[in-house]
Amino acid sequence: MEQFTKIKSFEIDNETCFVCGRKATTREHIFPKWLQHKFDLWDQKLVLPNETKISYRQLVVPCCPKCNGEVFGKLEKVISNESETDSDIWRWANKIHFCLTIKDKIFEWDRKNPGYKIGDVISTKDPLEQARHYLHCVSGDFKCSPDPFGSVFRFNFKQEQKFNFIHIINSSSIFISLGNRAYIVFIKDCQFFKDHKGIMEEYNELILRDLKMSDVLYFYAKNLEYLARTTVTNPLMIKEGEIVKLGRASIRKIEPKNTELLKAICNQFGINLIIPD
Ligand SMILES: [Zn+2]
Repeated sequence: MEQFTKIKSFEIDNETCFVCGRKATTREHIFPKWLQHKFDLWDQKLVLPNETKISYRQLVVPCCPKCNGEVFGKLEKVISNESETDSDIWRWANKIHFCLTIKDKIFEWDRKNPGYKIGDVISTKDPLEQARHYLHCVSGDFKCSPDPFGSVFRFNFKQEQKFNFIHIINSSSIFISLGNRAYIVFIKDCQFFKDHKGIMEEYNELILRDLKMSDVLYFYAKNLEYLARTTVTNPLMIKEGEIVKLGRASIRKIEPKNTELLKAICNQFGINLIIPD
């Protein structure tokens, strides 16, 4: 069988597998069928960052049978039967993030930008390029250390929760709730949050509580606000087929707390924020 040895660049279009660039004869659901079935999502609508509304059932990307069935099929299985590790959920979150991002690019491409192409060189400056390389962590053709390469926060609820999904494209992060568990995943932060003492203390304290959805969303909102005013440098080594974090991240610059931004994010998430003056 032919092996994928190098992550090749290719043009994104509707005939090409979003993972490997071969001919796409199948369609991969960005939100898998088991998930749509479980939470009755088929006709519910998601608002994309460009304000387009699209139903979950329509969110499909072109895929070859191998990537769809073998490679990503296995990953879907561990998540649907609730046996996922943090690395699995990170790979899965990255797939959703990547697909929603190219979906947005494809819409743009439809309008004005023919021949959008992503290259075969991973770039720390291009988050989409990174996400595309991380897709290949599922097959093992690309490796990252640490694995997961981003911060994964897991939350367990005592009661089943409604399905909830938030994608914040500029921070490459998602929030997803899957019944009695929910995740916040920062896909490309090189575990900056996981190394952050203050944030981890808060997280470890939070998960001991009888959690409400709003507690988790508020934690996410605070981290997004923090990320927006913090400039971080991560010492990285990138070589063919691999990305390695070489040491702890350093904070280059940090701006004062932006309460207005935090309020705006909370608003967007549908939670009320009461801040004492
Ligand atoms: Zn493929």
